[in-house]
Amino acid sequence: MEKIKFFYGDDVPLEMHKVRVVQKLNLRKIDERVDAITGAGNNTFLLQNKDVFLDMLTDSGVNAMSDIQMAAMMVADDSYAGSQTFTKLENKVKEIFGKEYFLPAHQGRACENILAKAFVSEGDCIPMNYHFTTTKAHIGANGGYVEEIVFDKGLEVTSTNPFKGNMDTNKLKGLIDQLGREKIPFVRMEAGTNLIGGQPFSLQNLKDVASVCRENDIPLVLDASLLADNLYFIKMREEAYKDTSIRDITTEIAECTDLIYFSARKLGHARGGGICTNNHDMFMKMRELVPLFEGFLTYGGMSVREMEAIVVGLDETMDFNMINQGPQFIAYMTEELQKHNVPVVTPAGGLGCHVNAMEFVSHIPQDEYPAGSLAAAIYIAGGIRGMERGTLSEERFPDGSEKLADMELVRLAMPRRVFTLSQVKYAVDRISWLYENRNLIEGIRFTEEPKVLRFFLGRLEPVSDWQKKLADKFKADFGDSL
Ligand SMILES: *Cc1c(COP(=O)(O)O)cnc(C)c1O
Repeated sequence: MEKIKFFYGDDVPLEMHKVRVVQKLNLRKIDERVDAITGAGNNTFLLQNKDVFLDMLTDSGVNAMSDIQMAAMMVADDSYAGSQTFTKLENKVKEIFGKEYFLPAHQGRACENILAKAFVSEGDCIPMNYHFTTTKAHIGANGGYVEEIVFDKGLEVTSTNPFKGNMDTNKLKGLIDQLGREKIPFVRMEAGTNLIGGQPFSLQNLKDVASVCRENDIPLVLDASLLADNLYFIKMREEAYKDTSIRDITTEIAECTDLIYFSARKLGHARGGGICTNNHDMFMKMRELVPLFEGFLTYGGMSVREMEAIVVGLDETMDFNMINQGPQFIAYMTEELQKHNVPVVTPAGGLGCHVNAMEFVSHIPQDEYPAGSLAAAIYIAGGIRGMERGTLSEERFPDGSEKLADMELVRLAMPRRVFTLSQVKYAVDRISWLYENRNLIEGIRFTEEPKVLRFFLGRLEPVSDWQKKLADKFKADFGDSL
């Protein structure tokens, strides 16, 4: 059952929860929004949340918690060493993923730091379906490099392919033959591939990748941060698993892997992270790094309250009626935008609705950051904060030239259980208006460019006074309306 059938009119996604705690939102006036984005250096990461109406920046650490999660936080066992809360989390991870050994970390990228420090050496190659920003940075910082071997069709922006996150196993075999297994400390699969639009892999593909890894004695690592969405898509889109429970699909996924790590800011919708494995050698190599970088082994930088919330959150993730909310809202938003001809990534994935900036603002050259410009324009148009996922999110080549991204996307994340359908409709309205006025949008350029992960803290300016013109058009069309 994907949607609840409506008797009159079209089906819409239906919230399977009710709201019991609310946070007031501010929708600034159009001129204030221009001032705010200017003050933020045209970087949505640098906006103050008080100036944001719909915060669609990320799904990391901003998902709504359930009453049961909140209740669990009150009974956390606060101790530095030997916390019973930690034991609970360790047991929950074992129950769900079937992995004996668990290491806590304060968030997903901290797991990546530990993984890269433990296993990546100078000149090593890490094949993966697609990279994530922090993953690549950690592998690079330890002298390794990333090979993306998502199958060719994965990078088609508009598609009907249900599993654009699949890895090309022939390319994997080729890479292993070419480099030799000694150069490949592990293969990484990312569930719900973040940077290409929250696109899933199929369970069959994961099984195929696992068998290539086993034949070559290379560990298979799963980044399970976005597993919830991938689970939903396997059940909905992969014929062989339509009658398999979410829990059983999770077990089959885990059985393919040698190690799983996750950001609990997403998976488990609280704040934290963890690594689990049945491989004792791998565990021991990583274990010594946890007290050094994260904290003692029974908290790893997380508060015990968050750990309690993660225990419940992991359980809730096994509930189809919980994990279907995000993807259904995203599909709704994607379809509504398409009705207004707004170019979006299809099929709709997890994580958020992804607007295709390469086409939306096709007149902006890639070295003027079309997706970054569009993200700034979307904030101006509606107080909506999205995230650039394009050339700005890449790092320059060593010679200083731009690495132009495969895709220029603005991600409008859909934090789990947070927004109502009318808020989504508002976002569709403002973005559709912006599309009609897309010719007013121009590029942006750096005024301050950090060397590492520049998209987080970089400051930029518009190449002309286009933002003022956009605001004038807004006032002409909307009058007094916010
Ligand atoms: C968010 C994310 C991470 C990093 O997690 P944080 O908790 O934000 O550090 C790693 N991998 C993927 C796939 C992610 O989506």
